[in-house]
Amino acid sequence: MPTPAAPPRRYLVRTFGCQMNVHDSERLAGLFEAEGMVAAHGVEDADVVIFNTCCIRENADNRLYGNLGQLRALKQQRPGLQIAVGGCLAQKDRDKVMERAPWVDAVFGTHNVGHAATLLERARREGPVVEILEAAANAADEFPSALPVRRELPFAAWVTVQVGCDNKCAFCIVPSVRGREMSRPFSEVVAEVAQLAARGTVEVTLLGQNVNSYGRDLALKARASDDWRAHAYMTGEQWAAAGAPRARPLFADLLRAVAAVEGIERVRFTSPHPKDLRPETIEAMATEKAVCPHLHFPLQSGSDRVLSLMRRGYTAQRYLERLAAARAAVPDLAVTTDIIVGFPGEDEADFERTLEVAAEAEYDSAYTFIYSPRPGTEAAARTQEFVPPEVVADRFERLRLVVERSALRRHQARVGLTEEVLVEGPAKKGGPGVFSGRTRQNKLVHLDGGPLRAGMVVEAVVERAAPHFLKARLGRVISPPRHRELIPVMAN
Ligand code: SF4
Repeated sequence: MPTPAAPPRRYLVRTFGCQMNVHDSERLAGLFEAEGMVAAHGVEDADVVIFNTCCIRENADNRLYGNLGQLRALKQQRPGLQIAVGGCLAQKDRDKVMERAPWVDAVFGTHNVGHAATLLERARREGPVVEILEAAANAADEFPSALPVRRELPFAAWVTVQVGCDNKCAFCIVPSVRGREMSRPFSEVVAEVAQLAARGTVEVTLLGQNVNSYGRDLALKARASDDWRAHAYMTGEQWAAAGAPRARPLFADLLRAVAAVEGIERVRFTSPHPKDLRPETIEAMATEKAVCPHLHFPLQSGSDRVLSLMRRGYTAQRYLERLAAARAAVPDLAVTTDIIVGFPGEDEADFERTLEVAAEAEYDSAYTFIYSPRPGTEAAARTQEFVPPEVVADRFERLRLVVERSALRRHQARVGLTEEVLVEGPAKKGGPGVFSGRTRQNKLVHLDGGPLRAGMVVEAVVERAAPHFLKARLGRVISPPRHRELIPVMAN
C-alpha cells in the first residue's frame, strides 16, 4: 500500500514596516510556496515562522524581541519549529539577533531575502545560520519582483523599480540598511507589469525610495559602452534609440511605458523626493489616463532651518512651488505627505512654520510621525537637542487638527460627485453589504449596495465625508474582476 504523502509544511510571515517590506514578504511567501509549502493560519500550526523586520518604524526592536520571546516556549515544545529573522533590522543588528534570541534558526538581511528558504534548509542540517550580505549577489536577488511572488491582492500589485537610496536624510536608516540606489532595468519593469496585466491585475504601484532619480545608475552603466542601442533592455527603447539625448532615462518614461500596458487601468507610485520631482513626471501624470491623480509628496518639516538640519535639499517655498505646479497641471490631484514632529532642535517657531505650510498645502491626508531616533543616523546623535516628549505630544495634536481640517474640507468637496472605485472587499466595519475600495485619488470609500466582488470597478456617488474616508452609494458596475489566482513558479 502506498504510504500517504506527508502534509505540506506550513509557513507564516510576520511583517513589520513599510511597503517595501510588505512586498518583500510577498516574495518570501512566493518562495516558500514554490518550495511546496502552504500558508499557516497562525503560529500554532506553523512549521516555519519568519519575521520580516523594519528599523524605520518606532520600537521595531522591542516588537521583534518581544515576539521572539513569545515563541521561545513554543520552540521548546516543538523543536522542529523553525524561526527566521530577515529584513532591515536583521541587516543592522547582524549577530545581535542570534545573541539575544539564540533559539532563532536563521538570520538574513535585505540583500538576500531570496535565500531564506535555502538558509532554513541549511539550518535544519547544520544548526543556526546568519547570512548578512553587503550587496546582492545578482540582480534577481536585489529586486523583489524578479522572484516568485505571492501577491496579497490579486487585482493590485506593487512593482519594485528601485532599491536603496543615495540621499542622506539625517533621520533615516534606509541608506545604511538598503545600500546604494539601484534601478531595475526598464524593460524588466514593463515586462513584469505586462505579465501582471495578463493575469488580470488592473492596478500597479511602482515602488522605490526616491522614484524620481530612477535610471541614473542605468545610464551610467549604458554610457560605459559605445553601443547605446545594446542597452535598450536596461534603459528603455526610447532612450537608447534616440542615442541618449538626455542624461538618463526618466521616471516619467517608465510611468508612460507602464501606463501604456494593455489592461492596466491604474498606475500609482511612491515616493518622489520633493527635490527631485521633475516637470516630466508631472506632465506624464497629467497626460497619461492610467496614471492616478494622487501624489505622495513628503514634506517632513515646513521650517527651512529644520529641513536643512534634516539634509532634505529643498526649502518650504520650493516645495510649495512644485506642489502648485503639480496641482495646476494635474486636474483633481490628491496630495498626501509625511511629516515628522519633534526633530532634534525643532523649536516653536519651526513648528509653527510646519503648521503654516501644512495648511497652505491643503493635504488630503498626512502620515504624521513623532521623531524617534534610529541608532546609527546623524540625528540620533544629537541627544542634547531632543525635544521634550510633552512638547512633542502637544505639537503632534496641533498638527493633527490642521491636517484633519484640510482632509475633511477636501473630502466634503467630493460629496455628490461620482467616483470610480476599485473594490477591495467587505468593509471591516459597517456590517454585511458594506464594501470598501479606493478611488483613483486613493481615497478609502465605504460602499453601500453590494454584493460586490474584490477587483470589480464600479461607480459610486459620494454621500458623506469624514477626514479619513468617504461614504458612497453604489452606482453602475464598470467592469467585473479580471484576475485569476496567482500560482508562483518554482524557485531555482
Ligand atoms: S530619501 Fe531620505 S528619507 Fe527617503 S529613503 Fe532616502 S535617506 Fe531615507
